[in-house]
Amino acid sequence: MTRRMVVVGGDAAGMSAAARARRLLGPDELEVLAFERGPRTSYAACGLPYHVQGLVADPEDLVARTPEQFAAAGITALVHHEVVAIDTSARIVDVHDLRTGSTLTESWDELVVATGATALRPDLPGIDTDGVQHLRTIDDAVALDRRIEQGATRAVVVGAGYVGVEVAEALLARGLSVTVVDAAERPLAATLDPPMAALVDERMRSKGVDLRLSCAVEGFEGAAGALRAVATSAGTVEADVAVLGLGVRPATHLAIDAGIPAGDTGGLVVDDRMHTPVDGVWAAGDCVESRHRVTGRSVVVALGTHANKQGRVVGSNLGGGDARFPGVLGTAVTKFCELEIGRTGLGAEEARELWDVEVGSVTSRTRARYYPGTQPAEVQVVYRRDDGVLLGAQVVGGPGTAKRIDAFAVAIWNGMAVEDLAMADLSYAPPFSPVWDPVVRAAAVVGGARLG
Ligand SMILES: Cc1cc2nc3c(=O)[nH]c(=O)nc-3n(C[C@H](O)[C@H](O)[C@H](O)COP(=O)(O)OP(=O)(O)OC[C@H]3O[C@@H](n4cnc5c(N)ncnc54)[C@H](O)[C@@H]3O)c2cc1C
Repeated sequence: MTRRMVVVGGDAAGMSAAARARRLLGPDELEVLAFERGPRTSYAACGLPYHVQGLVADPEDLVARTPEQFAAAGITALVHHEVVAIDTSARIVDVHDLRTGSTLTESWDELVVATGATALRPDLPGIDTDGVQHLRTIDDAVALDRRIEQGATRAVVVGAGYVGVEVAEALLARGLSVTVVDAAERPLAATLDPPMAALVDERMRSKGVDLRLSCAVEGFEGAAGALRAVATSAGTVEADVAVLGLGVRPATHLAIDAGIPAGDTGGLVVDDRMHTPVDGVWAAGDCVESRHRVTGRSVVVALGTHANKQGRVVGSNLGGGDARFPGVLGTAVTKFCELEIGRTGLGAEEARELWDVEVGSVTSRTRARYYPGTQPAEVQVVYRRDDGVLLGAQVVGGPGTAKRIDAFAVAIWNGMAVEDLAMADLSYAPPFSPVWDPVVRAAAVVGGARLG
């Protein structure tokens, strides 16, 4: 008998699950039906800042697969369809067709909740003023682009997390004056330790960003229906556009209303096969919590890299396999202008709460000292004092720096000690690194006492 898989949410996690299951099982075994409330499937939110910046001219290039392409692959993906209720006993969903206003009821044998995350939107005066927006969807990016085309010249970015930093770069490149406001004392506060964040702070200011830290946004002021200024605890900033980048929380209300439980983190609870505690219900992506491989704790890390893998795990298991999602390290990269940033594992403070740790950093280079284009690369390493096991690393530097974090990520993933990484056989040639690559050099210097 043909089983039916219903997917709620048609982006990274949901459509990865759908595509993987379809690859493993034919239509006579599994019918795959996905509902997406927005106008597009499988779009790369990660690329949105680069459309705003003008590097990706056509925003439709950010779409990996359209509903028509899914249909050709044997997957029915219905856009403008919002799932409004889940019944886990009757195994049905109620779906609102947002164009016609009609409601359909569809049955399922296996349900995949891939509803993503909801952007934080503070309840501040004037938040609904025209000109105040998020950057979450292609439509958001197109709207921001249009505001610039129509003459916006002054922008306030609310939040100096990675989205805020990327948006600030994009807006600067478009010629706007940019103010970034954050309540924290440093940019990328959730990503970087203070000494590493200081490098980002310095670069943002030197590129002309008016960076206002320890500063709260208090409201948005309009005139003739359009944004005029942003009120902050450090005064009023005139603005034509304000972009909210305050972070996200798992979008779980639909699942929770149906009795699918969330953990203390706010993310849906899943096992390592991405199955929820409710029979026949799977979940993946920004809406779930994951296990942190260093601490063993549950965490919510809303990144596309996990959403794709978790969706694949769901699809494999639905297709008869036994795939496992092994957890996360919080590895992430971003950039501000030509300054590249990466982090993985634990920051110094997080690590100190749990263990007796050693923390140190070195200033290395992206290429050999004499090779054209060489730039400084700052590398921080955190390891456990008793056994040398690596717990975290952060990198900030010129082009070629960010992806160096991946060597640390693999080392931490495999429980390597700092002294082993210091002698690891990493590549070297002058256009790519000094003879002591920044990764091995940082491990050798910071873990020097263990090297013998
Ligand atoms: C500006 C920006 C830059 C980013 N950059 C990076 C990056 O560089 N690297 C990285 O790893 N990650 C990045 N991310 C994060 C990444 O985009 C997300 O982690 C990823 O999209 C999560 O995929 P998802 O499928 O879990 O959720 P989403 O992409 O949020 O998809 C969930 C989908 O479900 C739909 N939906 C929700 N509820 C319903 C419902 N009831 N019925 C029907 N449909 C519903 C939503 O409309 C949405 O399309 C970035 C995100 C943004 C916004």
